[in-house]
Amino acid sequence: MNAFAGTLAPYAQHDAASRGRRFPEPAPRHRTEYQRDRDRIVHSTAFRRLVYKTQVFVNHEGDLFRTRLTHSLEVAQIARSVARALGLNEPLAEAICLAHDLGHTPFGHAGQDALHECMREFGGFEHNLQSLRVVDELEERYAEFAGLNLTFETREGILKHCSVANARQLGDLGERFLERHQPSLEAQLANLSDEIAYNNHDVDDGIRAGLITIDELNELAIFRRQHDVVTARYPGLGVRRLVHEVVRRMIDYLVNDLIDASAASIAAAAPAGVEDVRARPEPLLRFGPEVAAEHLELKRYLRQHLYRHYKVLRMTNKAGRVVRELFDAMFVDVDLMPTEHQQAARRMEAEDGRAGRARAVADYIAGMTDRFAILEHRRLFEPSERT
Ligand code: MG
Repeated sequence: MNAFAGTLAPYAQHDAASRGRRFPEPAPRHRTEYQRDRDRIVHSTAFRRLVYKTQVFVNHEGDLFRTRLTHSLEVAQIARSVARALGLNEPLAEAICLAHDLGHTPFGHAGQDALHECMREFGGFEHNLQSLRVVDELEERYAEFAGLNLTFETREGILKHCSVANARQLGDLGERFLERHQPSLEAQLANLSDEIAYNNHDVDDGIRAGLITIDELNELAIFRRQHDVVTARYPGLGVRRLVHEVVRRMIDYLVNDLIDASAASIAAAAPAGVEDVRARPEPLLRFGPEVAAEHLELKRYLRQHLYRHYKVLRMTNKAGRVVRELFDAMFVDVDLMPTEHQQAARRMEAEDGRAGRARAVADYIAGMTDRFAILEHRRLFEPSERT
């Protein structure tokens, strides 16, 4: 038993039960295996790039909006609180959260959809799989192996969704998608923490951007309940503090419900260990039915009114065009990419034909930050721009 593991519930993922790393390494001396995973993620290049990648708002729209880096930190914060309350493995949950978006393209979902379209005949592009590719292959930091050589459990958590076709090619990591089993509770937690974080910070960012209003949000039970409490208790509160107070309370409400409902479902299922957790057909971590419905209502509202706001759609349209044009130009002529990416494209084309070449171009584009993609697009298409 590692002295740093803390007090874990029997159903948590224990370090000693890890399925290990792809390339065996000596155990860390002063950390747990999952702390080591987390630290490797924090030091990675892909992690630093998250600061200039966005989900809803493009990076140059303002300094106040969330980026994928601050999003990932918020997700990790929520997961850590819940992990402690439920006796789960906190460093594992944190590692998964910090890594969960590493494979995202520039420009959020618009970039991902465009790149998926470009890659359609070559196996598609999926950001979860790309996150795994980043930590397994693309990071170049260690003399002895490609990637970060993370533990099975962190990699399992990163791979949130996966098609059956892709699962078949992923070996042990793909098994659960074929057998319809669950990942560890820490992975389930990372998933739900992601939802809590983005729904709430998108409310905050959406109001700040003037795309959604407090009046509209008051139509939603989950917002209205906290809004009524705050306005009754603090009449005349300024708008910024009002919004932050409501959002803060919504996060608290969701987190508390997640802890209570999950504790109840864990108690009812009484898993003896993580293998019992994995064997179940449904996740054990969950919101209660009422809160799940309210949370879903908020999610639907944001989809309709924020993500499909015409100003956001104009941006996503532009972003999609940038990604497509970069891909088309570089796929036709890989020599337009920097030298190391040309070399990767040649190597991958030798192994896998046109699909290999396409994958190398997708890797290059997926690694770009928003502003780098815009600059690279200008360099390729504006005759007056320096190359
Ligand atoms: Mg996320």
